[in-house]
Amino acid sequence: MTARAERVALRLPDAEVDCLLVTSPVNLRYLTGFTGSNGLCVIGPEVRRFVTDFRYVERAAREVHGFEHERSPTEFLAALREGWPDRPVRLGFEDHLLTVRQHARLRELLPAQVELVAAGGLVERERAVKEPGELETIAAAAALADDALEEVLGAGLAGRTERAVALAVEDAVRRRGGEPAFSTIVAAGVNGSSPHASPGDTEIPQGTLVTIDWGARLDGYHSDCTRTFATGSPGEDLRALYALVERAQAAALDAVRPGPAGREVDAIARELIGAAGHGEHFGHGLGHGVGLEVHEAPRLATTAGEALQPGHVVTVEPGVYVPGVGGVRIEDLVAVTEGGRRVFSRLGKQLTSVG
Ligand code: ZN
Ligand code: ZN
Repeated sequence: MTARAERVALRLPDAEVDCLLVTSPVNLRYLTGFTGSNGLCVIGPEVRRFVTDFRYVERAAREVHGFEHERSPTEFLAALREGWPDRPVRLGFEDHLLTVRQHARLRELLPAQVELVAAGGLVERERAVKEPGELETIAAAAALADDALEEVLGAGLAGRTERAVALAVEDAVRRRGGEPAFSTIVAAGVNGSSPHASPGDTEIPQGTLVTIDWGARLDGYHSDCTRTFATGSPGEDLRALYALVERAQAAALDAVRPGPAGREVDAIARELIGAAGHGEHFGHGLGHGVGLEVHEAPRLATTAGEALQPGHVVTVEPGVYVPGVGGVRIEDLVAVTEGGRRVFSRLGKQLTSVG
């Protein structure tokens, strides 16, 4: 953890700040190891302050090393009234997360020589590049999630409700020691045409496609995967849709390596789907970073200019959603490596009928 704070401290000049105030629980966990719900830290070249309230003092003593510990006064942010040098300080804050009210209160509490400067995203950029230990945790979460789904598929899909399947997946994840990474999506038939359909109480029929998007959280890290299965024998149109998404997913996955910008990888899938006349049915980005949050940097999308680099973990998940007909999405979780990529999702991607 101390190495992470070190790396962020080295980035402070880029944001033209002397110190960074970190209030986001996820970023705080990343930098300090603290798993409680209320804390903050201040990082500068010579500064490692960690503040929490009385409930978490003992936990912080166990989890947080390399920082000076302080117990907050009753008003949490008032801890920041003290402890500043007598010269001007530019204090960066996470402007994408701090509330307007917290900002106003901080301005009142801080001494006059401390200037608040918007500096959001510094920790997120650091988090985007995973360390070897983080990659192994994500790999373990993905393997756990794959096992859980295989167990559920063993009982078939047709005749069960979407909701029952979603619950079974989440239960199987929990029995293996994980937590669901997000609310499991199970979308059958025409429901599949909505990318984020909520599982309903209709029975999954024979002869259709069923999209399942699920993941596990393990030691704070997430996995994210989608497979579209068949029940019985779906019609020719649905099979063609599946073949298109399968081809687009494979082509984009093949382009994941150090170098290309997120938008270039996105374009590979988007052009294939567009050429087949389904451009308007692929309304979301190709993928997103995954780590301590299910959606984090970097993005694979038409607007993503950042180049992929070793240590990035992203999803590759093209989808085609045809209103009134159905949808297909195939999503793999993949790490960028020096030589290319390492795919964490191991369930097959040929159209499989699970009955
Ligand atoms: Zn997903
Ligand atoms: Zn995803």
